Amino acid sequence: MLIDTHCHLNTIIKNEFDAPLPENFSELIQPYLDEARLHQVKHIINVGTSLIESINCVLLAKTFKNIWATLGTHPNDLTTDWKSDIVAYKKILQSTDKERIVGIGEIGLDYHYPDFDKQRQYDGFRAQIEVALEHDLPVVIHTRDAADETLHVIEEYKQDNIRGIIHCFSENAAFAKHARELGFLLGIGGPLTYPKNQYLRDIFIETPLESIVLETDAPFLPPQYMRGKKNTPAQIAYIGQFLADLKGVSLEEVARITTQNAVNLFRI
Ligand SMILES: [Zn+2]
Repeated sequence: MLIDTHCHLNTIIKNEFDAPLPENFSELIQPYLDEARLHQVKHIINVGTSLIESINCVLLAKTFKNIWATLGTHPNDLTTDWKSDIVAYKKILQSTDKERIVGIGEIGLDYHYPDFDKQRQYDGFRAQIEVALEHDLPVVIHTRDAADETLHVIEEYKQDNIRGIIHCFSENAAFAKHARELGFLLGIGGPLTYPKNQYLRDIFIETPLESIVLETDAPFLPPQYMRGKKNTPAQIAYIGQFLADLKGVSLEEVARITTQNAVNLFRI
């Protein structure tokens, strides 16, 4: 059994961001779930990026028993009104929907694009970590061009037993080591297969399977052989095999350990 620990099913079935799901969402999703099941991908963690997308994630998780939701606002999606997102997340976590919510994310810091508001990102990141801690949930962290600051924030919550995933890991070996020391798992998917990413392959050869979870970030970041196409959760099987070959172990071993890591973290 495999688990896609990071996917955006909402975005697979609709082209617009921050819009509600289409009425026939069940029909549209089903083929992707069937394809995933055919490739042994039994659970999918569908990750929120904004309030609207988080609500979409909850709706999908309530409709399909093998889809689980996370709630969170991505650093690039924090608006001036971000505090009202937090109020809404807290409210959802007080409802019966909370059974389908297994994490807070994706949250973090992204200093890549110009004109970002550093203070807002920092405050939004910390506020959402605190929601996770209050509800004993793991965090799904997005970090880009903000490595030191991200580790610094995680460090701040070390005593509170913060736990989670560094999603789409693309930092250096020192960051990988530090994150693992903080108990974090490293999420890896399509980028592991890209020719330019030898440094990532080197890091994942050295990283024990006990610290790794598999993710697609679908519809984004497809493996190299299908670049330019829409990524899907079924590709976890390809990523798992790629990682197994890289580490000289069997797919069964990769599946067993990385799935256990995900089950333990998300408690599904
Ligand atoms: Zn993502």
